[in-house]
Amino acid sequence: MFTSINPYTQKTIATYAPHTPAEIEHKLLTGERAFRQLLDTTLDQRREWMMQVAKSLKDNVAEHAALITQEMGKTLKEAKAEVLKCATSAEYYAEHITSMLQPKPVESDAYKSYVSYEPKGIILAIMPWNFPYWQVFRFAIPNILAGNTGLLKHASNVSGCSLAIEKVFMESGFPAGTFQSLLISSKDIAPVIADPRIQGVTLTGSTPAGKSVAALAGKYIKKTVLELGGSDPFIVLKDADLEAAARTAVQGRMQNAGQSCIAAKRFIVEKEVAPAFTAEVRRILENMQQGDPTLDTTNMGPMARPDLAEELMQQLQETLAQGARLELGGTLEGCNFAPTLLTGVTSDMTAFKQETFGPLAVIIEAASELDAIALANETEFGLGAALWTSDLDKAARLATLIESGNVFINAMVRSDARLPFGGVKQSGYGRELSLEGTHEFLNIKTVYIQ
Ligand code: NDP
Repeated sequence: MFTSINPYTQKTIATYAPHTPAEIEHKLLTGERAFRQLLDTTLDQRREWMMQVAKSLKDNVAEHAALITQEMGKTLKEAKAEVLKCATSAEYYAEHITSMLQPKPVESDAYKSYVSYEPKGIILAIMPWNFPYWQVFRFAIPNILAGNTGLLKHASNVSGCSLAIEKVFMESGFPAGTFQSLLISSKDIAPVIADPRIQGVTLTGSTPAGKSVAALAGKYIKKTVLELGGSDPFIVLKDADLEAAARTAVQGRMQNAGQSCIAAKRFIVEKEVAPAFTAEVRRILENMQQGDPTLDTTNMGPMARPDLAEELMQQLQETLAQGARLELGGTLEGCNFAPTLLTGVTSDMTAFKQETFGPLAVIIEAASELDAIALANETEFGLGAALWTSDLDKAARLATLIESGNVFINAMVRSDARLPFGGVKQSGYGRELSLEGTHEFLNIKTVYIQ
């Protein structure tokens, strides 16, 4: 059984029976049939249905947000913003998909040659609990508009969200089976990946999960897109606007109780401004209200599961034993991990070397701007990076030296429907969103006419 437990109250909300092998087979059949039906629809028809998806999300934002908050603990404010981001992204793609799928003429020896973008079939999405709607919709919206169908294996603690998303698509006019939820444990996923009806697999989650799924998919020559962990640097140079940098750093680290792949996980600060930056970060953290995620006054909820909170506590204790200083927080009650600040962190410590998936801010001092870049790159991950400086020419130059899939200058790293999103190194490969993401699971077909 899959059990959804409210992380704040620790009460069981619901249990869900896993799908049987016969039900899984039925979903594969229905997904394949829906794919054939979508091939017979026009893009305009699919755009209309996607606008209906957006409307349904907006009309029912309160119910969707309450479900998210109950299942994984983010504040209701954050959950509402997440649902609305899905809705506005559905509208964005409904508006722009026609140009994204436009065949591209290419001059060659042919009388006419061009590239066309065609759907392939069912795409399996293995998704995490941290943004239980957004992670799903950012895959589903462009793929379904392009004519693929989606089968979702969601994280085991957010089955309610998984079924609610399926219902949104089902009620928006798309053929039955266009988007389906599969309640299945990760240990039973191998035969689904192997099934010839599955044409590709996209996974967002931890690096071990990515390795396991990519190895299986590779065995069957299935394309994968992997969006894995990160240990994003947030670099503050001595000419930065320190007050804005501190405010954004805290937001980037603490939103979603620190459980974001692109959270600002390592604050790397030039030593001349480290004391002032630390004082400002500390002041903001001291004013954070952690607690009941359903209250308007709360700006940080609990972590999503006790095991995740305990793992973070272990990382914190190791880092302290290695010589870091605890400036603030450091306590855990149930899933409520207090906003925590460490200083004196160096590159040989656990909180620098490992991904920390929770409300733990760490400050690392850099001797110079080039030292800051070297520290930023001293990680196996490469998802996002933020760089703060008032010299924009210097920022552009330094951005080329940073090993990551996204660099945000004087801003917080975030995903945006209009921009490609993804990583390098152990943070994965492939892209989501924008033109690049939309084309990942399409047949990029060359047509040559003599
Ligand atoms: P996981 O990577 O284990 O889970 C993410 C998704 O992958 C879930 O749907 C999970 O299913 C599935 N999954 C896990 N292992 C496999 C596998 N071998 N084969 C197929 N599917 C698999 O993340 P956790 O929830 O355990 O979180 C652990 C850590 O992962 C976090 O602390 C964080 O470091 C990282 N993480 C990164 C995220 C990101 O946005 N990049 C999001 C979430 C976590 P199931 O729930 O059934 O196990």
